[in-house]
Amino acid sequence: KITICWLRRDLRLQDQAALYHALRSGHPVVVLFIFDREILDDLDDRRDRRVEFIHQTVTQLQTALQQHGSDLLVYYDRPLPVWKQLLQQYNIAQVHINHDYEQYAIDRDAAVRTLLESQDIPLYSYKDQCIFDRDEVLSKAGKPYSVFTPYSKAWKAKVNDFYLRSYPTEKYFKQFYQGSFSGVPTLESMNFEALGKPFPAQEIPVATIETYAEKRDYPALEATSRMSIHLRFGTVSIRELARKAQELSPTYLNELIWRDFYFQVLYHFPHINTGHAFRKEYDRIQWRNNEAEFEAWCQGRTGYPLVDAGMRQMNETGFMHNRIRMVTASFLAKHLLIDWRWGEAYFAKKLLDYDFSANNGGWQWAAGSGCDASPYFRVFNPALQAKKFDPKGQYVKKWVPEIDQVDYPDPIVEHETARERAIQTYRRAVKKD
Ligand code: FAD
Repeated sequence: KITICWLRRDLRLQDQAALYHALRSGHPVVVLFIFDREILDDLDDRRDRRVEFIHQTVTQLQTALQQHGSDLLVYYDRPLPVWKQLLQQYNIAQVHINHDYEQYAIDRDAAVRTLLESQDIPLYSYKDQCIFDRDEVLSKAGKPYSVFTPYSKAWKAKVNDFYLRSYPTEKYFKQFYQGSFSGVPTLESMNFEALGKPFPAQEIPVATIETYAEKRDYPALEATSRMSIHLRFGTVSIRELARKAQELSPTYLNELIWRDFYFQVLYHFPHINTGHAFRKEYDRIQWRNNEAEFEAWCQGRTGYPLVDAGMRQMNETGFMHNRIRMVTASFLAKHLLIDWRWGEAYFAKKLLDYDFSANNGGWQWAAGSGCDASPYFRVFNPALQAKKFDPKGQYVKKWVPEIDQVDYPDPIVEHETARERAIQTYRRAVKKD
């Protein structure tokens, strides 16, 4: 009999909850990864760098497992048919996974659970991608928080060494199944292509975290940790990172708490999973949804240099600085009155660190429709934001080199007019009650 540990967004062998429990199950452990065609077949961009990142990581995991006399069992298919095949091929004692909070994953795991349980095989699932999830941080009245500051206070009051402790998987590596499988399919065989550009380093950037509080708001300094892609795919352990944050920077720890906050929002308020505003009255906003303006925003040609710099940074690199994410998102929803869901979907296509909960949370925050959002009558002024956070214009110059030339477009809307239009439109929608 074997135990299977199925990796999904937890692509590492160190400090990994499901793997730890699998290795302690007493049976040889087969580590499984599925390139999920349910997701991959829908990607328009066959040079999607996230697929390249996963492929690269999976190949490294295979090498690491081979060094322990084992191998990675890899499929390129849909999960349910793979599991049907595994049930035929192996005598499976147990299956271990980590929780995944997105709707698609919840449905996928429920279907696999039903299948396994029909054969009396238990599926064990663990918290791994955040410090606290679901009902672990509730208000005194037992209610979920929808405002960040009290949530973060309660989070900090609850956290202790127990929650931040690593799972010592390496002590049990001799439990890996000994043998080999058929290998990792090439990207080309899955109809994807590699660009070969580097990804953010996997090492926790201690020096950056030490100076994070002073520098993080200035996009030209590139002074944020770039851990987001690693947290997204689990190539870095959140427990290890949170321990470093606790030691080095309360400001940085607070950002990690935002991440937990949005995971639990998703769990407690599932209506946001289906395209709804967190505050339902915001679904009454009469969006203008001008397609040409949306296109200009996507391409970074709005005539607002900070907005354009951000969009171009994301289009070229798959990353955008957090402050600029706030500015570009607010600009779309408020200045252009384009449904924030269009922007959310565009970010979902482009961001290497795309994560439903943080992205949806960020968009609804900027659009004013979310939990803990700024009030609707507060509209970011992109020119003032640029003055404050890119005072020498270095970030803008880097991404919009033609800023001073004639072919740089005029502003797509005048700020004051757009601000008033946004406030009036929002007021009409939210004041109906
Ligand atoms: P750092 O500033 O070094 O922060 C460290 C880590 O804290 C990040 O890696 C991230 O995991 C977490 N974090 C920081 N800020 C937030 C936040 N506001 N919400 C949740 N977690 C946070 N983050 C994503 O990971 N995926 C997304 O799809 C995403 N979409 C966003 C969309 C909008 C409109 C906005 C305003 C923010 C979005 N964010 C998203 C949050 C934030 O912008 C990124 O996490 C951050 O820019 C990633 O860079 P970093 O790793 O250098 O962050």
